[in-house]
Amino acid sequence: MIAEKMKNMVANSSAIRAMFEEGNRLAQIYGAENVFDFSLGNPNVAAPEAVKKAIMELLEESDPVVLHGYTNSNSGYADVRETVADSLNKRFGTKFEGKNIVMSVGAAGGLNVILKTLLNPGDEVIAFAPYFGEYRSYTNNYDGVLVEISPNTVDFQPKLDEFEQKITPKTKAVIVNTPNNPTGVVYSEETIKKLAAIMEAKQQEYGTDLYLISDEPYRELVYDGVEVPYLTKYYANTIVGYSYSKSLSLPGERIGYLVIPDEVKDSAEVLAAANVATRILGFVNAPTLQQKLVAKCINEKTDISYYDRNRETLYQGLKECGFTCIKPQGAFYLFVKSPVADEKEFCAAAKKYNLLLVPGSSFACSGYVRLAYCVAYETIVNSLPKFKELAKEYF
Ligand code: PLP
Repeated sequence: MIAEKMKNMVANSSAIRAMFEEGNRLAQIYGAENVFDFSLGNPNVAAPEAVKKAIMELLEESDPVVLHGYTNSNSGYADVRETVADSLNKRFGTKFEGKNIVMSVGAAGGLNVILKTLLNPGDEVIAFAPYFGEYRSYTNNYDGVLVEISPNTVDFQPKLDEFEQKITPKTKAVIVNTPNNPTGVVYSEETIKKLAAIMEAKQQEYGTDLYLISDEPYRELVYDGVEVPYLTKYYANTIVGYSYSKSLSLPGERIGYLVIPDEVKDSAEVLAAANVATRILGFVNAPTLQQKLVAKCINEKTDISYYDRNRETLYQGLKECGFTCIKPQGAFYLFVKSPVADEKEFCAAAKKYNLLLVPGSSFACSGYVRLAYCVAYETIVNSLPKFKELAKEYF
């Protein structure tokens, strides 16, 4: 018999994954070209050519015993961590050293490591809706309690008044995700400054340590020259979780890192605990070939123009059909207002046209649906007549 806690997890298992599986089923029946699957954030752009070249070189040139062995430190290869720190310092004017970097098994691995490191049972973790639904499971893994800030559906910047009210002496961490999944919104510098000021004041008021966790797998995916503030510069107690899943199109390879700066409260202890957490969660260390790979490809980027063309075409196309949504500044998602209050009903209606959308309730924001546009351009173009037919049911 499986654990009680797992029973709930299985029962609430991801609607996104379920939709993705439904897409595969429909593709078998109707042919892949007639199914418009916007369900999963699985990059459609191939990893840069340099990635393949770097893997070949690593295999040719490295001592296989070292390349495929356990790393000396569970936090990763020292040279890789230094390369990551140097690159961040050059880009953001920070002063990190290799010791501030903990290589992780993607952003998901990094978030689990840092929540394991920080949370006592009953500690509260705040997230701003709409948010990546897995935050709930990750918090629950360590008996934390996820506290939700309701969505601001005007511009999807976080609701800071409600945030201020919901911080309690039990609040241990606040997760922000910008560029955001599912809205594509980038939190403005003004928002970040206000959020930081609120957290500083609450730390003082309660005499507690409040950690800001910046979950940023989409940092590199921004459009129209939008700047994404680097949060360690605004609030001392900030830990960054990064991933190469989207920035280098390597989601299956499971590689990313945490940044735990010296300015973080009890930084040395947090770093030591994150190292142990990496080991005892069963990761042991982030995949070694992938660590070396990202160090070699530190200046490589995915082809953002591909996603940008999809963004423009889908956004304009949906608008012309009568749908409303905020134009995303980053990531590869559109968050569209459902024409009926129950967005699950809307998703079911869309499925009749083989349009696969994810209900906003998966992101704690009902009344909306998410479309992941990291798909083939043809999928977008060919889906628009279907959206037009769907729209006729409502407008
Ligand atoms: N955080 C957010 C906001 C995401 O959207 C995702 C994946 O889609 C993750 C974390 C996990 O990413 P990774 O593949 O790096 O574990």
